[in-house]
Amino acid sequence: MTSFDDELNLRLTALREQNLFRELRRVDSAQGAQIQINGRPLLNFSSNDYLGLANHPALKEAAIRAVTDFGAGTGASRLICGSLAPFHELEAALADYKKTEAALAFATGYAAATGTITALTCKEDVIILDKLVHACIVDAARLAGAKLRVFDHNDLNDLADKLAWADKATAGESGRRTGRILVVTESVFSMDGDRAPLREIVALKALHGAWLMVDEAHGTGVLGHQGRGLADELGVSGQIEIQMGTLGKALGSAGGYICGSRALIDYLINRARSLIFSTAPVPAAAAAATAGVRLAQSAEGDARRRALREITAGVRLACGLPAAEFMSAIVPVILGDEAKTLGAAARLREQDIYVPAIRYPTVARGTARLRITTTANHTAADVAQLAAALKNAGVAI
Ligand SMILES: *Cc1c(COP(=O)(O)O)cnc(C)c1O
Repeated sequence: MTSFDDELNLRLTALREQNLFRELRRVDSAQGAQIQINGRPLLNFSSNDYLGLANHPALKEAAIRAVTDFGAGTGASRLICGSLAPFHELEAALADYKKTEAALAFATGYAAATGTITALTCKEDVIILDKLVHACIVDAARLAGAKLRVFDHNDLNDLADKLAWADKATAGESGRRTGRILVVTESVFSMDGDRAPLREIVALKALHGAWLMVDEAHGTGVLGHQGRGLADELGVSGQIEIQMGTLGKALGSAGGYICGSRALIDYLINRARSLIFSTAPVPAAAAAATAGVRLAQSAEGDARRRALREITAGVRLACGLPAAEFMSAIVPVILGDEAKTLGAAARLREQDIYVPAIRYPTVARGTARLRITTTANHTAADVAQLAAALKNAGVAI
């Protein structure tokens, strides 16, 4: 295998030279405000466990109960004999939470995106994406083989232009449409933490008879009544054909979901290849996710969201951002240069704080950043420690 390995080592060297080399850091503790990395306790400002549920007793107990009652594995795809009761309970809880007719659970958010977008579109269709959507949506759109157009981030004029183009591209000879138009955006953008203008996007897609899919990976659990998401906060959930999200961030477990009409869910059960051709995830994950959904809807969920807002305001202040404005639990500090960002993250680690350096291809070249994320489990003392460390590292005011 030497020539194979030589080739790969050359490619790895190129990544190192560009400061784009990545490696896994082993974590020897549960998720929380403190994590143990390489034997050292670090203050963790890097996880998407926004409500602090990943290590919550209610979720752990639900997972343990599911293992006791349903075992460790599922034995087959959902379509064969793997559709264990915890998935059905989770789907009922999700549909009730999001106020949709139905819901479908996937192994991951990534699988939800690829399964759904490839099921709904084909090469006659047009998919229009916000420039900053997550890699799983980009991959799904490529896999679908549809004509792909990208609009500038949150730019409604550019979206209107792309929709006008799509109208023409999907118009048949007799004026009857030969293809569908699918617009996909995130509600809260994963690396910038800003929000999509969903009301205006809903109005535009309706004007053009397009379908809209919104990825609420970072909105679910955090925004809207009971944390139902940004679409709920803006009162447009009922006008979004496909609501997507993950169970692995604020909801504290793992998995992905699609919420929408009964017809959409029945169609996906028949056509979503990532669901059909993959073993059902473990019942423990589904049961923990159901407990996460219930917790998000409870008084404790409200208290955790209030704590999250307070912690985030403190972090925003430390980063020189308007503190009163709560956009999301993601606070990016854009430094631009990859080496500079790696250096800043290393200086924070020296001060016992873990914040990831996000680089290409996760974000565009030259927009490398520290991505600080907050959780309901952080304390005011944690924020003070972060603020001081940022100052020492020379990356904040
Ligand atoms: C994390 C993420 C996903 C993928 O969800 P997983 O459950 O982690 O696979 C999809 N979309 C966005 C915006 C995300 O941040």
